[in-house]
Amino acid sequence: MIDFHCHLDLYPDPRAVTQECAERGVYVLSVTNTPSAWEGTAALAQGKTRIRTALGLHPQLAHQRKSELPLFQELLPNTRYVGEIGLDGSPEFRNFWADQHAVFKAILSACSEVGGRILSIHSRRAATTVLDVLETARGAGTPILHWFSGTFRELDRAVQLGCWFSVGPAMLATEKGRGLAAKMPRTRLITETDGPFGSIDGRSAMPWDVEMGVTMLAKIWDEPSAAVQAVLDENLRRLGSQCIATDRG
Ligand code: MN
Repeated sequence: MIDFHCHLDLYPDPRAVTQECAERGVYVLSVTNTPSAWEGTAALAQGKTRIRTALGLHPQLAHQRKSELPLFQELLPNTRYVGEIGLDGSPEFRNFWADQHAVFKAILSACSEVGGRILSIHSRRAATTVLDVLETARGAGTPILHWFSGTFRELDRAVQLGCWFSVGPAMLATEKGRGLAAKMPRTRLITETDGPFGSIDGRSAMPWDVEMGVTMLAKIWDEPSAAVQAVLDENLRRLGSQCIATDRG
C-alpha cells in the first residue's frame, strides 16, 4: 500500500496513525503545510523505514507563512521530498495570489539549486498557472500533481510536461475524477488519501484506505487489483530511484 500524500501530523492522534501505518506496512509520503512543522513531523516517522516526510508550504497558508521561506531553504538539504506546495485559485485564496505565486516560485528555485526534489503539488483551480510555473522551473525535480482536478486539456499539457499524478478514493468517487484518472499515464501514477482532509463516506480517510483507491483503479483499468498494485509498486520504485541522496532520506 502506498499513500503518497497524507498529512500524518494533522490527525487527532498522529502517533497512533503513524504506528498503524508502520504495522500495516504502508509506504507514506507525509506532507507538511509549513516549514516549522517539518522537524516535529519528521520525528514522528523516526525508525519507520517506509515513511518519508516532505517539507512544504501550503498555498493556502502562503500569505501567512512566507516569512518561513528562509527556514524552508535551511531544511531543504535534509529531505528529498517537497510538499505540500503549489497554487490555489479558489475565491477565498485568490486575494493572496501574488504571495502564493512568489512562494511557489521561490520554492521551485530553491529545489533547482539543490539538484531537484520529488514535489507533491496542489493545483486546485490553478492548474494552468501551476503548469506555466513548472514549465519555467524544469530543474526543480519531479512534479506530482496531487488530486488533479483540472480540465482534460490541462491534463494533456501536464503529461507533456512530464508530471506524475497521485489519486485517491475521494477523487475517484467522482465521475470527473475517474475520467481524469483513466487518461493519466499508468507509469506515472501513484495512490494517495490526502487524509485527514480527503474523506470517505463522511469520515477522514486513513492512509490504509489507499486500498480502496487501488480497487477503484482496477475497475477503471479493467485489470485485477494485484496487477494494479504491481504497477504502483514499480512506479514507487522508479520515483525513489530518481532521488538524489541526502542526509536523512
Ligand atoms: Mn493535502
